[in-house]
Amino acid sequence: MAEHQSTGSELRILLVGKTGAGKSATGNTILGRMAFQSDLSAHAVTREVNQKTAEKIKNGLRALSSGVHAIILVMQLGRITKEEEEVAKWVTKIFHTKAEKYTILLFTRAEELKNPEDLKGFIEKSPHLMGLAAKCSNRYIGFSNIATGEASNRQVAELINMIDAMVEKNRGAPCYTPEMLEEDTRTFFEKFCRIL
Ligand code: GDP
Ligand code: MG
Repeated sequence: MAEHQSTGSELRILLVGKTGAGKSATGNTILGRMAFQSDLSAHAVTREVNQKTAEKIKNGLRALSSGVHAIILVMQLGRITKEEEEVAKWVTKIFHTKAEKYTILLFTRAEELKNPEDLKGFIEKSPHLMGLAAKCSNRYIGFSNIATGEASNRQVAELINMIDAMVEKNRGAPCYTPEMLEEDTRTFFEKFCRIL
């Protein structure tokens, strides 16, 4: 979804996370335009989802067919739910997947931090988040989608740099592909079934 400024090459980014985490707002910040509807009005969002889910899944898969350079796991700072902690716990303890090499953790509402270094402290307060961050080679970033101008440009540049470094590190296989997803899913279920 983002065009690399210096080389003109395409970066395909997949944003994942719970409803309300800030995926749409983050997508808009990255692109610098209102490409996605960002709204907390449950009614409108639900209706929109009902009508457009099939289309969205299809679009997502179309993008995935050539793979994505980055999977951004979007979470809201200060509102890490039990559910998210559980997911983090599972991912770190049980599952060894290829996806982790392509994943970046992004925390929205970063404006709530007094200074950017506080994000590290926030993560370190949760053993689960720490484990998840370690899995992702400590690729995490704070994002404020209400930031404007220079401050907004700076965080987008930081994210793109982080993605570029990850793509460079993954240069043998720069994209997370549907085949990897299938393999990860298989691993996921094999391990899950063994544990059950
Ligand atoms: P999605 O369901 O993951 O797509 O979440 P949205 O992008 O629609 O965001 C949910 C709500 O959180 C919206 O009201 C956004 O305006 C708000 N939001 C998202 N990111 C931020 C942020 O960084 N700071 C603040 N203050 N609000 C945010
Ligand atoms: Mg959304």
